Amino acid sequence: MLQIEIVQGDITEQDVDAIVNAANSSLSGGGGVDGAIHRRGGRAILEECRRIRAERYPDGLPTGQAVATGGGRLPARWVIHTVGPIYVRSSAPARELASCHIESLRVADELGARSVAFPAISAGIYGYPLHEAAPIALRTVREARTSVELVRFVLFDEVALRAFTLAE
Ligand code: ADP
Repeated sequence: MLQIEIVQGDITEQDVDAIVNAANSSLSGGGGVDGAIHRRGGRAILEECRRIRAERYPDGLPTGQAVATGGGRLPARWVIHTVGPIYVRSSAPARELASCHIESLRVADELGARSVAFPAISAGIYGYPLHEAAPIALRTVREARTSVELVRFVLFDEVALRAFTLAE
């Protein structure tokens, strides 16, 4: 039985098996949650990202897909990097956002992760309205077929926390 938690906090501090990164397709770091994860997790994560990019995704990780690296100096053992849709550019943002959650949980299952923390994917720089993103994220996780036992949505500020709490 999958348990879902909604908390306010910093995802880099979460003591879970895996945290999900709202990455960009280049896997080369960026702002927002991506920047925070690389700052706190150290260079090992970025180096592994660069290797994955060069060996498996020369054109970049496609939107809605997910790959794992180690967690470096983070409390979490793994980081699952997924690329959310850019809201105004995507022709199917809801499907792509749902795919980020499904694929991240699939990767978590492959790793054997039992607890996974998600940020509000796409709801920052990528411009997905929180009141639309939150119900998609929650519904997708609730309906997923996964061996993960705990999903914790970690929202950075009160506005995001409220959007997820209202959508629960
Ligand atoms: P995207 O490019 O997918 O929109 P962002 O990183 O810009 O990703 O933002 C996604 C969400 O993550 C936003 O709601 C942002 O406030 C939040 N966020 C930023 N830093 C952190 C953090 N350290 N922990 C949790 N959430 C964070």
